[in-house]
Amino acid sequence: MAKLLYLIKEGEISLKGLNRGLFEKRLKNNIKDKLRPYRSTTERQKGRLFLFVEESCPKERIEKALSTTFGIVGYAPALMCEKKVDVIKEKARRMLSSMDLSGAKTFKVITKREDKSFPVHSYDLTCILAEVVHEVADHLTVNLKNPDVVLHCEIRQQAFLYTNDAEGVNGLPVGTAGRGLLLLSGGIDSPVAGYEMAKRGLKMDCLYFHAYPYTSDEALEKVKTLAKEIAPYLNGTRLFVVPFTEGQLNIKEKAAEDATTLMFRAAMMKTAGQVVSNEQMTCIVTGEALSQVASQTLAAMSFTDSMSDYLVLRPLVAFDKQEIINIAKRIGTYGTSILPYEDCCVIFSPKHPLTNPDKDEMRKQYESLGMESFITEALENTKIYSYNARGEETGVWNYGEGTDENV
Ligand code: ATP
Ligand code: MG
Repeated sequence: MAKLLYLIKEGEISLKGLNRGLFEKRLKNNIKDKLRPYRSTTERQKGRLFLFVEESCPKERIEKALSTTFGIVGYAPALMCEKKVDVIKEKARRMLSSMDLSGAKTFKVITKREDKSFPVHSYDLTCILAEVVHEVADHLTVNLKNPDVVLHCEIRQQAFLYTNDAEGVNGLPVGTAGRGLLLLSGGIDSPVAGYEMAKRGLKMDCLYFHAYPYTSDEALEKVKTLAKEIAPYLNGTRLFVVPFTEGQLNIKEKAAEDATTLMFRAAMMKTAGQVVSNEQMTCIVTGEALSQVASQTLAAMSFTDSMSDYLVLRPLVAFDKQEIINIAKRIGTYGTSILPYEDCCVIFSPKHPLTNPDKDEMRKQYESLGMESFITEALENTKIYSYNARGEETGVWNYGEGTDENV
């Protein structure tokens, strides 16, 4: 059966030592997961991964999969042929003829001879292939610095040809750095925080505190859409929706007005911590950035930290808003994040929140709120939605009842 072939360039993985095999295996499986139900196989050849996919798979599917998989620095559709100069020339000719080169002005040939026993040296092969380019498109001139078209030829166990490779998302394969819980709100920041941590190989589920009817059904739909949108980067994820209205109302009733946000954040850490513990995860991820709002000052974040029994990762801590927005646009979450459904109703936000809280005082205040029963009840009523690596919703069940066999 004819297969589509893609050449994949790995980045940081190739710097790994003895455990490189684990990273490579994970990358391979993550790609295969995204292509299902289409069958695919991979073959590794020094610094490259070759992906063979059954021909009926739409190219967009493959490209969507490769452009959202961490561990890939670049990829391109490729042709494989025998290591014979005439065969390579003929393949190159056919490949270039099938391309629309009318808009291009310049080109470059890059030859890589991994197999040193191949009798033609890289430079000579480069010249031979440059002639082929001229035969097919004689209007193209050589430009070594910034060419419109790059023809690559790699001599390995076979010869491989490909043109301009697309950029991947870099990073390390998801699942190689353990598991964590992303606090996902409907805002711009937290989906980007999830993306950034997935880039370092962290596998994540998401958790959203929902305060219906103070936060609307539309707000929940928005968070579900965001989970779906980041699911390909996360290689599939589950969204825990925690109904927290009673907990919020308890905080509003008992806490000092200027401390309500901090009390909510402490309760978030405690609730998330229970999920982290139950699910054998290791950390909590948030979209906080230093000094972005009152609850994100150093003092406020250090109080929040002190209320967590687990490592809290804040990948955006040093990012400014514009940088975060740029990433959100690039990864495709921005449009959803700016939909006009507030994730936290104004009734729960103090007019003058504390920016320099005293940690011990805050801890004492939190103890006086009796949040445990609210947290237990909220978790008992938590719903889980699951999304696969292709961003499709695959199931919904109540926490504690169902399983995630259908993820
Ligand atoms: P975002 O844009 O991610 O909503 P933000 O700038 O609005 O962030 P906050 O509302 O203070 O900031 O929230 C800081 C972080 O706390 C969020 O990035 C997110 O990780 C978490 N968070 C806030 N609200 C919720 C919620 N309702 N459910 C889950 N996590 C939340
Ligand atoms: Mg928010």
